[in-house]
Amino acid sequence: MTGEMIGISEELDKQMTIIKTFLEHLEYTLGKDKYSATKYDAFNALAYAVRNHLVERWLDTQQAYYNLDNKRVYYISMEFLMGRALGNSLINLGLWDDFKEAVESLGRDFEELLNEEQDAGLGNGGLGRLAACFLDSMATMSIPAYGYGIRYEYGIFRQAIADGAQVEIPDNWLRYRNPWELDRQEHLHTVKFYGRVITTIDKETGKLVREWVDTEDVMAMAYDTPIPGYQTHTVNTLRLWSAKSSREFDLRFFNEGNYIRAVEKKMQSETISKVLYPADNVIEGKELRFKQEYFLASATVHDVLYRFKKMHTDMRLLPDKVAIQLNDTHPTLAIPEMMRVLIDLEHLDWEGAWDITKRVFAYTNHTILPEALELWPVWFFEQILPRHLQIVYEINDQFIKEIKAAFPDDPHRIARMSIVEEHWERKIRMANLAIVGSHSVNGVAALHSEILKKDLFRDFYEMYPEKFNNKTNGITQRRWLKMANPLLSSLIDEYIGDCWTRDLYELNAKLKPLADNPEFLAKWMKVKRKNKEKLCRYIHKMNEIEVDPDSLFDVQVKRIHEYKRQLLNVLHIVTLYNRIKDNPKAFVVPRTFIFAGKAAPAYAAAKLIIRLINGVAAAVNNDPDVAGRIKVVFLANYSVTLAESIFPASDLSEQISTAGTEASGTGNMKFALNGALTIGTLDGANIEIMEEVGRDNIFIFGLNAAEVAELKERRYNPRDYYNADPELKRVLDQIASGFFSPDIPDLFTPLTDSLLNLGDHYMLLADYASYVACQERVGALFLDKEEWAKKAALNAAGMGKFSSDRTIKEYAEGIWGIKPIDIRPGGAEMEH
Ligand SMILES: *Cc1c(COP(=O)(O)O)cnc(C)c1O
Repeated sequence: MTGEMIGISEELDKQMTIIKTFLEHLEYTLGKDKYSATKYDAFNALAYAVRNHLVERWLDTQQAYYNLDNKRVYYISMEFLMGRALGNSLINLGLWDDFKEAVESLGRDFEELLNEEQDAGLGNGGLGRLAACFLDSMATMSIPAYGYGIRYEYGIFRQAIADGAQVEIPDNWLRYRNPWELDRQEHLHTVKFYGRVITTIDKETGKLVREWVDTEDVMAMAYDTPIPGYQTHTVNTLRLWSAKSSREFDLRFFNEGNYIRAVEKKMQSETISKVLYPADNVIEGKELRFKQEYFLASATVHDVLYRFKKMHTDMRLLPDKVAIQLNDTHPTLAIPEMMRVLIDLEHLDWEGAWDITKRVFAYTNHTILPEALELWPVWFFEQILPRHLQIVYEINDQFIKEIKAAFPDDPHRIARMSIVEEHWERKIRMANLAIVGSHSVNGVAALHSEILKKDLFRDFYEMYPEKFNNKTNGITQRRWLKMANPLLSSLIDEYIGDCWTRDLYELNAKLKPLADNPEFLAKWMKVKRKNKEKLCRYIHKMNEIEVDPDSLFDVQVKRIHEYKRQLLNVLHIVTLYNRIKDNPKAFVVPRTFIFAGKAAPAYAAAKLIIRLINGVAAAVNNDPDVAGRIKVVFLANYSVTLAESIFPASDLSEQISTAGTEASGTGNMKFALNGALTIGTLDGANIEIMEEVGRDNIFIFGLNAAEVAELKERRYNPRDYYNADPELKRVLDQIASGFFSPDIPDLFTPLTDSLLNLGDHYMLLADYASYVACQERVGALFLDKEEWAKKAALNAAGMGKFSSDRTIKEYAEGIWGIKPIDIRPGGAEMEH
């Protein structure tokens, strides 16, 4: 046979194997034949067939970690916003084309089967999606890593829109099967709650001994999901904990006679992992949330120590083998839990335990919004975690001694830095605890990390400057370009090869010159147009709105929050609308304003903003004077999967938060990577995006963070702007008077009140004129198709820095002290 023929027969073999495995799963795993199999069955059979490919690598990887006993990182997060896994796994395994062909040879539509998969929506927004991007990067870069989280039975709610308003639908994502997870019934930890602490004196040592007794116990059971790296043998683990009643393991209880009470108790304890809290960037001070956080922290600490103790007896080696990264303060109870285990169960002394703990933990801050800083009432601790309260108090006592030694005669400093907030209700400040108990504190973009040092954590920075560092966020280009935008990926591959999938800086080196290549730009524009047409079809199907694919797609998709200023975007739309009404024949650049995003169910202002967007859409889209100029679309149920179809079709990325409020943003990176231009403030990672793509290739407007702070200082008066700008005044009066809510005229007055009468906390009016003027420059540029395309290409070409691969490399080198492990088939692994 010739080489080519061998190639062909290998291909055929591969196809046959895939088809055989697929049909076997359909029949033996799912109990269906080709006649009774639904599309969903076919998706599941496909997922199982792919899982087969993952398992071997997974076992090799885990065995290698065990054999090498290398240092590992544990990324603990209350949220993992994973989205779908099938397409991503196929891409990472390099099996996309083989599976596509196999599926099509069976007469099935490949994309249709991929669309059968439910999103794993175990997160709210950026923080949870960051955790998911990090898992992909850690596996791809062969970092020995584990994600630890909660296996919520209900993920983030599904959003529907009824009469313009958000309606929340429970996301019962596990109702059908989850083909990706494997339950690990043997990985079970007891998590204790309530009870009391008894103190005795050890007769031999004379030391105090604490015992936490009479607790109510809940079992944490592990469910593991494989996390494949891209073009590597590494498959890491995401371990999610599910709460199971300890009663289930204590059959006695059922025999005591009170069967109903027994089942009630069982249900109570299992509620811990029932539902994800749907608030983003704001705390829910609920007891159940507190229990969830401890449940995750405790189960994870015990699991980590169990794995460590398989190899070691000397706990002092722990920091050489274990790094734990806390994704925000949500898992911070792991710090006192680690102390409790080391002292009460492993019998280390305080100093030894504290030294180990600090060297193991590192904390990432994600926000400076005061409403998002976690404070837990001391009485929660008294009732639910009495031993941890003792430990937190002891940590605080030692810490206050340290402050006094470093800054004598400064009682205000002590009050500010104390882990215990002394109010009428005493509270534990989780951020202070996280900083004191960690060796590293990082922000998620350069500006944010500076604000932490200068402002929010200034006192801590003055005391521990060496702890503070920056790790600018990133996104995985595998999901957000290669998978989400196959047309653009192929075009880039055609010109520069596919090295960018492993090293995004390749775009900077090789794509930039192509921004002057007319042939490339023509193809670039064709791709964008195709992606826009596809989104038009989706919009038509979902919202029954006819959208012009040649119009400027002006897109703001992210959680709905006042600080993100969707309302400022609306003020601009109404301004354009009024200009058209005043002068119906004037030329305006045709635009389609696209919004998507969920509001926290209890966040009244955010829900009202959704109604306003839909109210404006109703007025604008149905007005014959406006026809062919502007359209407004609110797409329901923003999710990872919806995001994957929006970014590739966007022209303009709205990143318009008040400067100093958005810690980083990652949506901004996904847009730019897909060739959208940004209109944005000098906030979060927008600043670094500007530095990378060049000041001429981004639209910056508004106050910067220093100016915002200064204007606040000078007593900002929004009425000054309202009175001075007739166009602005008209827009606000219109909204307040019910123009966009004819059935309920005062519906939107809470929104206009917050701007005009309640201080306009996020300074929309201060930035309005600058924003509208900047949008005029956007419109003008859009008329020059070639120039726009050139800038769009330069944006994508400047995104090298924003790969989460770069971010993870910085964490691994700068915080964790962890090196990649090269995993080889069959276990011939080695450290790099
Ligand atoms: C990237 C992403 C986010 C974060 O968006 P920001 O604009 O940075 O707030 C939120 N939700 C989903 C589904 C995402 O993919």
